[in-house]
Amino acid sequence: MTHPTPLDIVIAGGGTAGWTAAAILARFLGNRATITLVESDAIGTVGVGEATIPQIHNLIIGLGLDQTEFLRRTNATFKLGIEFSDWLHPGHHYIHSFGQVGRGVGLIPFRQLWLRGRHLGVAGDYGDYSYNVAATRLDRFSTTDGREGKPTELAYAYHFDASLLAGMLRDYAEARGVRRVEGRIEKVERDGESGDIRALRLDHDREVAGSFFIDCTGFRSLLLGDALGVPFVDWRHYLPCDTALAVPSETRKELRPYTQSMARPAGWQWRIPLQHRTGNGHVFCSEFMSVDQASTLLLDTIEGDALGDPRPIRFISGHRQQFWSHNCVALGLAAGFMEPLESTSIHLVQSGLGRLLNLLSGDLSDVTDARTYFNRLSVVEWQRIRDFIMLHYVANNRNGEPFWDHCRVMELPSTLAEKMALFREAGTFVREEDELFLDDSWGQVMIGQGIMPRSWSPLADNVPAQDIGPFLEALAKACRIKAEALPSHRAFVAAMTGDALENPA
Ligand code: FAD
Repeated sequence: MTHPTPLDIVIAGGGTAGWTAAAILARFLGNRATITLVESDAIGTVGVGEATIPQIHNLIIGLGLDQTEFLRRTNATFKLGIEFSDWLHPGHHYIHSFGQVGRGVGLIPFRQLWLRGRHLGVAGDYGDYSYNVAATRLDRFSTTDGREGKPTELAYAYHFDASLLAGMLRDYAEARGVRRVEGRIEKVERDGESGDIRALRLDHDREVAGSFFIDCTGFRSLLLGDALGVPFVDWRHYLPCDTALAVPSETRKELRPYTQSMARPAGWQWRIPLQHRTGNGHVFCSEFMSVDQASTLLLDTIEGDALGDPRPIRFISGHRQQFWSHNCVALGLAAGFMEPLESTSIHLVQSGLGRLLNLLSGDLSDVTDARTYFNRLSVVEWQRIRDFIMLHYVANNRNGEPFWDHCRVMELPSTLAEKMALFREAGTFVREEDELFLDDSWGQVMIGQGIMPRSWSPLADNVPAQDIGPFLEALAKACRIKAEALPSHRAFVAAMTGDALENPA
């Protein structure tokens, strides 16, 4: 067995992606790698990214962070899912909640029983059978259930201030030996023979050399895109939105334990409750709306006073053709852009790092196989998430609105077309290739977006018709009762963080 050579890792960029990479690599490779992070305060970060999915727990647990300290330091709140308003048509609402909807019986999936119950006229709204949805309807939350204080059955994630999280991760990484270099990257030096990156040239004639590089330079993609010339795969024909306006506003009295996503004439608007403010943003397609129109619409529809002017951010949905080229992996915005509709970007940073840690061998002299797998798995992961996001746009009944009419007739990737066709038949879903979103997520969004299956699986005919109504009613009642026993989300966050939230503005 050969003794592994020490790794000399250089992370370019210190936004959420850069500091997440630094913290994780310091935690898991710290004893056999030197890690240097280069960032420029003068350039700054993109400064958005406040909502997450439950996989964020892997980061918190993996790093061994204390939940209370995390909540305090990042002004975090809890998130049970996303409420989609006006997406199917104006006035329509549904919730894509995390976690399970209903409960199957033996081999019979819950959705099939619900579909049969619907046919029999005894089923309520699909969300009635989700504990998470019941809690969102009452603005309730706790990390424990019942009097015994068992860990909650609610599936949850967080909303937080991403720049505060980056600060927390920076402290963590620096305490574990990561060296931070302040400076502007002016040139990327490559080895004349292999083409690998050899060093970053910084301002004031400085150089940071390394054996492995992680590009976290944001939209600029200075290493993978610029220096290594990896082309960008443009998804505008699938996801046409290309601009976002972000503005914070004052916090509200009630603290919703969920993200809100409101459809707008040329896109959608987010509302994300944090402890100290509400994050707002308007994502839209510039072909159908000007920045001025989008800004007016955003300011007219935020709750409370704006705490600044809306800041435009331009983007193109898509990703670099390879996520790993030569001795460089890109993470975060340097790897690509997935619009924030399902809050997946921070997760993609985490999953990219997880994949890298699993594939990185002790000897960096030949990484061909690792690179091939990394690129293949990353592309599949990105494509499956893209399909899920597209579904929200494609399946709409907002007839007569040019942007939404355009979305309804967009060309579909075959992977999405097949999923929609299968679901339309009998509410069936097949999870492929380790994709991120599970059956319950696809089911809620398909139904929420008006794709109602024509039939149900014959499996559901195994339950006597007269038993289905009482079964569904008992499940819905159990969800309501459990939710009613929870404290308010605001009271729970206040109890965890101290009394800072007792008297909101
Ligand atoms: P950045 O934050 O842009 O950081 C880039 C870093 O590179 C900075 O430190 C910068 O100083 C450095 N840098 C760049 N050039 C140089 C140079 N020449 N020299 C030295 N340093 C340099 N994600 C979610 O998970 N949930 C959300 O709700 C969410 N909402 C979003 C909303 C919008 C509108 C957008 C645009 C993104 C959203 N995201 C969301 C994505 C999320 O913001 C990013 O994935 C995350 O912030 C990571 O950004 P980053 O670190 O890759 O890039």
